[in-house]
Amino acid sequence: MTVDTVEKLLVEELKDLYSAEKQITKALPKMAKNATNNDLKTAFETHLKQTEGHIERLDRVFETLGKSSSGKTCKAMQGLIEEGSEQMQELEGEILDAAMICAAQKVEHYEMAGYGSVRTWAQLLGQKEVADLLQQTLDEEGETDHKLTQLAGKINKQAQRHAA
Ligand code: FE
Ligand code: FE
Repeated sequence: MTVDTVEKLLVEELKDLYSAEKQITKALPKMAKNATNNDLKTAFETHLKQTEGHIERLDRVFETLGKSSSGKTCKAMQGLIEEGSEQMQELEGEILDAAMICAAQKVEHYEMAGYGSVRTWAQLLGQKEVADLLQQTLDEEGETDHKLTQLAGKINKQAQRHAA
């Protein structure tokens, strides 16, 4: 399919995000399991529930647009998750916690870039309901990123002590 309109571009990017969110629901339980810090473990578990909600919102978005959600694999998310998996095998304790916060923030920033763009394109196309749904998810990704920065404040210091 030739992507030659903003509407087609919106649908392609939504499919990319749908694939990304699906991949994240498989990665987050492993990250929660590997977290040493209990607050970080809880943060990953909380974001898993939110991520399931992001998929539900995308289902509603596709329904509203009358389009299918399937047919695309987000290769960028595959790469980000693969890097995270390698760290889970190679690192441990608070050092792994610090590395997982970094990996998780890369994922959140990828999502924020995607959701920001699709929200804006939906607004441009007059799809207010779709834009509102995408904005809600964008807000949750931003809150998660902020929470991870807060957790890093404590966990990075623990990782530094661990290394000493
Ligand atoms: Fe998400
Ligand atoms: Fe997220």
